[in-house]
Amino acid sequence: MAASTEAKTVHSPALTYFSMLSLLSLCPPFVILLWYTMVHADGSIGQTWNYLMQHGLQGFIEIWPRPTATAWKIIFVYGAFEAALQLFLPGKRVEGPISPAGNRPVYKANGMAAYFVTLVTYISLWWFGIFNPTVVYDHLGEIFSALIFGSLIFCVFLYIKGHVAPSSTDSGSSGNIIIDFYWGMELYPRIGKNFDIKVFTNCRFGMMSWAVLAVTYCIKQYELYGKVADSMLVNTILMLVYVTKFFWWEAGYWNTMDIAHDRAGFYICWGCLVWVPSVYTSPGMYLVNHPVNLGTQLALYILVAGILCIYINYDCDRQRQEFRRTNGKCKVWGKAPSKIEATYTTTSGETKTSLLLTSGWWGLSRHFHYVPEILAAFFWTVPALFNHFLPYFYVAFLTILLFDRAKRDDDRCRSKYGKYWKLYCTKVPYRVIPGIY
Ligand code: NDP
Repeated sequence: MAASTEAKTVHSPALTYFSMLSLLSLCPPFVILLWYTMVHADGSIGQTWNYLMQHGLQGFIEIWPRPTATAWKIIFVYGAFEAALQLFLPGKRVEGPISPAGNRPVYKANGMAAYFVTLVTYISLWWFGIFNPTVVYDHLGEIFSALIFGSLIFCVFLYIKGHVAPSSTDSGSSGNIIIDFYWGMELYPRIGKNFDIKVFTNCRFGMMSWAVLAVTYCIKQYELYGKVADSMLVNTILMLVYVTKFFWWEAGYWNTMDIAHDRAGFYICWGCLVWVPSVYTSPGMYLVNHPVNLGTQLALYILVAGILCIYINYDCDRQRQEFRRTNGKCKVWGKAPSKIEATYTTTSGETKTSLLLTSGWWGLSRHFHYVPEILAAFFWTVPALFNHFLPYFYVAFLTILLFDRAKRDDDRCRSKYGKYWKLYCTKVPYRVIPGIY
């Protein structure tokens, strides 16, 4: 086995156990209940609650769809198609950031091409009457059910692979089987030399499914009502702009915490394979049978506000990456950037330097990029108006996730950069919301 690096957890073991048990026991039923409420209970938590009160556990078991052959076929064909695009579409060679063990992973940047091919293929299949995306909507519960079980098995595979055939020295055991399974063993697991598993799970399966399902919901509403309501249009356009931005900037994503710091385990992989397709797309799932009419003016205001937030979020990420790529020799908001030169030691004992940007968006707060991210999610949900809370679940979840992530990232950077991070905190005192938090 490769020399191991200690798998550090950012939370205490007690919190890790608690979070793991909650995720394992609560998230799968939640995904099913979310789907059931959106599709069969008018988006009303009260209606689902009453049903469960009346029918108890047996009633819950009855609404849990069994994974059918159609569901497995859809998942398998979609997964195989995305894997083939990831492997065979041409793309520029891109180097990821230096890993904690001192490695530099290499990727093929063909995400935008894969995204384009996927959407064109999917819409063409519908347009030419070869495959109707409403089939996906009609089997959604079965698909989520299959994904819940399939992803769990996939995470067991990742755990075993981490033990018997790690792809690089960025791998290792914490000595605790539960933590290894939950947080993962390998940072960059691959099949062969070129097929990167995290790029597949996070980007090509998870994020791609977001766009595919957004289009599916739109088509389903069209087939149900003979037209697409302006609320659905705003929701779909904003989600597609967001996912397009993601693939446009996919190589940048390979520098973020998800890829460069979080190992491939249940936490991240299950999240991308199950939680993203179900929870992230849920505002659109709600709108399918709630064709709210906003009126052109209101629809346009929401659309513009949403696009602006997505742009600002993109610009924050772009600014940080441009700053790092040029080694600080770039303009930030028209001026030379202010920065901190932070040295740190890798796990192999080498001393390295990173630049921390302290002006532009990164001078407003240490994680300002999360503010437009949350607001964008609000703007693609608000077309659902305020009759029910459930469409806003994603916004609420994202807010908690990102505030927790800001803390996790701060803790990690503090232990990586020590006094230099302290200096950054003195210069930029707020963690997320300038002047408040
Ligand atoms: P990033 O990884 O992009 O940024 C944090 C990292 O950047 C730190 O770990 C540190 O890494 C480096 N860094 C921190 N401060 C500075 C600085 N001042 N100057 C230069 N580098 C710095 O963050 P995220 O992965 O959290 O976010 C990336 C994008 O993904 C965002 O747009 C975010 O909104 C989005 N996102 C969306 C989620 C969703 O579920 N919708 C979830 C999470 C993120 P290093 O070790 O290199 O110094």
